Order: sequence, then C-alpha cells, then structure tokens
Amino acid sequence: MVNEKRVDTQPSCADASDDNSLTVEQARAAIRAALSPLVDHESVPVRAGLGRVLATDCISPIDVPSHTNSAMDGYALAGAELPPAGVRDYRVSATVMAGQRSTGACASGECVRIMTGAPMPAGTDTVVMQEQVEVIGDGVVRIDARHRAGQNVRRAGEDITRGDCVFAAGRRLGAADIGVLASLGFAELRVVRRPRVAFFSTGDELRSLGETLGEGEIYDSNRYTLFAMLTESGADITDLGVVGDDPDALAAAFASAAAIADVVITSGGVSVGEADYTKRILSESGEMSFWTIAMKPGRPLTFGRLGDALFFGLPGNPVAVMLTFQQFVRPALSMLAGAGWPQRLVVPARSAKSLKKKPGRFEFVRGILQRDDDGGLSVRPSGAQGSGILTSMSRANCLILLDEACGGVDAGETVAVEPFSTLL
Ligand code: AMP
Ligand code: MG
Repeated sequence: MVNEKRVDTQPSCADASDDNSLTVEQARAAIRAALSPLVDHESVPVRAGLGRVLATDCISPIDVPSHTNSAMDGYALAGAELPPAGVRDYRVSATVMAGQRSTGACASGECVRIMTGAPMPAGTDTVVMQEQVEVIGDGVVRIDARHRAGQNVRRAGEDITRGDCVFAAGRRLGAADIGVLASLGFAELRVVRRPRVAFFSTGDELRSLGETLGEGEIYDSNRYTLFAMLTESGADITDLGVVGDDPDALAAAFASAAAIADVVITSGGVSVGEADYTKRILSESGEMSFWTIAMKPGRPLTFGRLGDALFFGLPGNPVAVMLTFQQFVRPALSMLAGAGWPQRLVVPARSAKSLKKKPGRFEFVRGILQRDDDGGLSVRPSGAQGSGILTSMSRANCLILLDEACGGVDAGETVAVEPFSTLL
C-alpha cells in the first residue's frame, strides 16, 4: 500500500544548505571577533626564533652595513680622479682586506687594492673591479674611461639605518628575518608565548596505535593529523589521548584540558548521533555555539569558551578535521600568537575536469594543481571526496574552492585554488 504521508526529516549533511547554517565567512568572522592575542612574552635565542612572533618592535642599534665598504674585489680611488677619456695610470699605495681597518689617505694619482667588504680608505669613493684594470708593472694599474664616480660602493646604513624599526611587533619570523636580526647583533628575541593547545579524540570505536583492532574499531588518526597540524602552527601541544563516549569521562577531560590550555580541541562527537554527548556536556560547562556551517566537508563545528580556554569541537571525519582546522583553527592560533588573521593565498587555475555541485554550500575539493606545458596552472580532483577518505587529502596539494553560488564547473573553466605550499 502506498501511503501519502511524508517522512518528517531534519537538516542533515546531505542537504545542499539549510536555513540555520552559517556561511564559511560568517563562521570565520565570529571566531575572529571572539579572539584577542596572548599578552605573555618570552626571550628565545635568535636561532629558535624561526616561526615565532615578535612581541616588541625591533629597533636597529646600528647601521647596516656599519661602514662604507667595497662591493667588489678591485681598486679604490677618488671618483674625481677617473680619466674623463683615454686611460690613466695609478700607483697602488696599499691593500685593504675585509675585516681590516682602512689605511691612511689615498693621495692624488694613487689607488688602494681593496677586497669585497673592506672599508673604503679615506679619500676614496669609487671601486673599479679588478677584471677591468690592466696591471702595468710593479704597483701600477691602468684604468680607462668607462667608469662612474661612486660605483661598486655600499654606503654605511644603506640597508638599515640606526634607529629604524626593522620589524614591527606581530611579525612571524622567516629565515631571512633571522638573518637580518643576526646582522643587527640581536642574540635574543622577545617573542609571544606559543599558544598552549590541549586536544583529545572522542569515540568508543577508537583504538590507539599499538592496540589490536576489534570488530567495528578503527585507529585514531585524527590525533596524529592534529598533532602534525598543531606542530606546523607553532603551538605548545598537550595530547590528552582518546576519551570514550562516556559523559563523566568527557566532562573530566574537558575540565582538565581547559585548566592547562589556551585552546582546547576535540574531534568527533559534535554531530547528532546517539553517542554525541559532547554538546550536552559543553552546554553545561561553557559558553558554546553549535554551528552548522554550509560547507563540505566539515559541516558541524562547535566553538566557544571552556573556562578561560577557547574551545573548538571539530567533526570526527578525518578530512573534515583537517579542513576545519585549516580554515578556522590555524588562523585563530595565528591571531592568538599575535600575528593576526592570515590572508589565504588563492590562485586561479583551469579545471581539467567538470565538477558537479549544487548552489548552497561552500565545497572544498581536494585537488592536484600542476603547471602545464603552456605555463598555465590546471587542477583536478585528487580522488574520491568522501569526508572519511584521507588518502585523497594526502595526495592533494591544494583545495579547489567552490563557493556557495557555484552550481558546478565545466572542464576548462577557471576555478579558485588554495595551494597547500609548493606544487608536487
Ligand atoms: P562522530 O562525529 O563522532 O560521529 O564521527 C564521525 C566519523 O568520524 C565516524 O565514522 C568516526 O568513526 C570517525 N572518527 C571520529 N573520530 C575519529 C578519529 N579520532 N580518527 C579517525 N576517525 C574518527
Ligand atoms: Mg563519535
């Protein structure tokens, strides 16, 4: 018998969107608005500064270079003494090497043999490179008219002047920055304390590495991807292991995580499954927003406060964990560390395949971006896109960003791509 009645359904991750969901941008804005940077500083040796965030402005105590010096191996002389035409011979009055003090003044008709980095002798302002002089005899060189007064000299302070603000507070230090700071003589740096992050996985089905899998059990992979992503983000990490779907154990784990961390992260237990106690316990112990985000993968996300700590309840599915971390948690950690909310790098690329999508939610498609023979960039999906399929994430070197309005992509169309780092 066919019944005319319909099943009364609820919003689910199979829907393109539902009216109560937030857009990705709205979720980002809400997280951003709830954050303020950490105020604690610490000193670290300059070598340990890579990836750290400066807590104070860096003011240069010296000029760089500290003295006017030669940019070439050659001969230093007064520019006014260069021949306007033809050639002129000069007596080589002295030699000065890098690290030596410059010798006495260079008189008219004389030049000084000089090495790269050596201070310019008094009376000189120009260097002729050694390949462009002719050595005439003992201590005499010949120079022609092709040279310009002032050439091949690095002026004191031309890179950095004493008193310049070289880096403002909030700068995340890269390798070149470490070199610049060393060139200024900074042995120690004042940096913002690393954000302390405590995290655990939830789920009775999870087994830790080294245990044997029983029927229906899986290895806990989220803790390992989270550990890796937190390491990349420069966090100070505490791994609290696996907590089963047991309300008392979860409540105790939330309390101990919040006591030691600036940020608490969990994975799993935020959907509407029978065993998803997380929501109930969180509602009792903190200020929480339970969001449905119009994105795929990664739909449910909990964000709020647990005591003094920020809380992110990420979904359980391994790819959803990675995406929600990348899109929401990583920028939040950057902001906490004082480096601000980072701009994402998005580049256009030609879609090598057609991509199915309905308008409504934002879809992140794991992709492989490559440079084609014609020099352009093209992108294709890296494999099956189920939110539990981590191998297609590991094969991917980018995300293809299909926004809410997108209703599918034809092969050959241009799409927006967020690269992970370099191309494979
Ligand atoms: P949940 O949100 O707890 O319902 O989990 C959604 C899916 O993600 C389920 O298939 C879980 O088995 C899986 N899952 C949850 N936590 C983990 C984890 N730590 N490692 C791997 N898979 C997980
Ligand atoms: Mg679960």
